[in-house]
Amino acid sequence: MHRVHCRPGRHTLLCTLCAREITEGEEYWACNGSRVCADCLAEFARQELCACHETRGRETLQ
Ligand SMILES: [Zn+2]
Repeated sequence: MHRVHCRPGRHTLLCTLCAREITEGEEYWACNGSRVCADCLAEFARQELCACHETRGRETLQ
C-alpha cells in the first residue's frame, strides 16, 4: 500500500471548491460548512453573496 498521508493521525484539510490541500499555517475561510482557500475566496464570495448580486444599470429593485 502506498501511503498518501505523510502525517498519520492528522486530518487533511481540503478546500471545498478546488480540493487543494490547505496546509499548516495557511489561511482559509470556514463558512456555512465550507472550507475555502485564499485562491477560491473570490469565487466562494460570489456564490455566497449571489442574492446580493447586481449589475449597474440593471438593478433588480425590490
Ligand atoms: Zn481552493
